[in-house]
Amino acid sequence: MTGFKTIIEPFRIKSVEPIRFTTPAQRAAALEEAGYNPFLLHARDVLIDLLTDSGTGAMSKHQWAGMMQGDESYAGAESYYRFEAAVRDITGLRCVIPTHQGRAAERILFGTILQRGDIVPNNTHFDTTRANIEAAGAIALDLPVAEGRQPQLRVPFKGNLDLAALERCLTDNAGRIPLVMMTVTNNSGGGQPVSMENLRGAHDLCRRHGVPLFLDCCRFAENAWFIKTREPGWAEATPLEVARAMFACADGATMSAKKDGMSNIGGFLALNDERWAERMKNNLILTEGFPTYGGLAGYDLEALAIGFYEALEEDYLRYRIRSIEYLGDKLTAAGVPIVQPTGGHAVYLDAKAMLPHVPPAEFPAWALGCVLYVEGGVRGVEIGSVMFGRQPDGSEKPAAMELVRLAFPRRVYTQSHVDYLGEVILQVHALRHRIRGVRMTHRPEVLRHFTARFAPVQGKLLAEPGA
Ligand SMILES: *Cc1c(COP(=O)(O)O)cnc(C)c1O
Repeated sequence: MTGFKTIIEPFRIKSVEPIRFTTPAQRAAALEEAGYNPFLLHARDVLIDLLTDSGTGAMSKHQWAGMMQGDESYAGAESYYRFEAAVRDITGLRCVIPTHQGRAAERILFGTILQRGDIVPNNTHFDTTRANIEAAGAIALDLPVAEGRQPQLRVPFKGNLDLAALERCLTDNAGRIPLVMMTVTNNSGGGQPVSMENLRGAHDLCRRHGVPLFLDCCRFAENAWFIKTREPGWAEATPLEVARAMFACADGATMSAKKDGMSNIGGFLALNDERWAERMKNNLILTEGFPTYGGLAGYDLEALAIGFYEALEEDYLRYRIRSIEYLGDKLTAAGVPIVQPTGGHAVYLDAKAMLPHVPPAEFPAWALGCVLYVEGGVRGVEIGSVMFGRQPDGSEKPAAMELVRLAFPRRVYTQSHVDYLGEVILQVHALRHRIRGVRMTHRPEVLRHFTARFAPVQGKLLAEPGA
């Protein structure tokens, strides 16, 4: 902190990656070529890429220097022991199993312990978590608090789990729940944080029912910052102390270190139960690699061992959370509807509120994402009826919310990029009455948002002025 009001980026830039400027006409052509699916664009045609915050961050000079110290020994590499020490220090969990990313940790965890018909409650399952539970024949159950489903409501911990519902679930399904999970922050629920009170409540319930509690801890540092700044009693604690108190509620954790590991790849599964860990390591050897590298290079483990601590630095977290809030404030002041309050890693535009004239069957959030790209070269991701509308029986049902998520890569963009973003979104908001929907011309059956193709229902994304 400087004592001044302006929060500056807590870094200076030593290596730059040029971004390529294109015209709206070039972008319109690129988007048409990509079947109006931003996932199918070449990244070089994108000016500001907010598709995801996963693995897209910039590493520090300490991480790059650490990579040169990578020990590439197949077994027992020093880099592994540094990685293990960092994870143990922060989480307090004894057995540390490295994986190449989060979903590998999920597959190993669920593939080892779940039986057909089991239930796994969570505040809200992330899509890969849900898919891995369902692949094991079990049921992924979401139990978010009611406030979590109201985009405009401003309360501090909208990521919380409904403890009364969890208690009923544990009582009614004794013997069918091998573990409970909590996702911090709650990614699918708008990047909203979970309070320490809620974590401790879940921990108590789980202990009374003899069920282990695991954290899906991809954004543990961002969650720790929200507890420090929003929850009474935590203001004086460091983010590391808050994180340790969060993990003290847990018997295990799965991590995508592409998020708060501040690295481009990596993850882990950590737990206290040695018998479970033994079985999981056997599973790991089968698919990921030997337990001291788990599908990663020695240099990746070095970058992670350093990155976990950098994610917990106060100056970094203050800048990170503020840059999201800064965009949110600009948009809110101009009347652009977004999910309130802004969460840890993204701003979510509320397309249902912005484009009431576009019906869900014409995918308003998808159309809005396309217009953002053509107008300003900005790429976000739809979280709406394209992603969630297809039912298991093949029928269509509108999603509960029609959102465009603008996720911020870590340490990549500066304030002028965010100012530019604000300007683009305001311009698109001014055009909102002219925005028309899209129809799906190619409909893949699974995870269709990645590969579907579209066409504007009226031949163009924007109707003529006054039309
Ligand atoms: C990203 C993410 C995952 C999956 O991690 P990958 O590294 O993408 O496999 C799991 N849970 C949450 C909450 C995530 O954000």
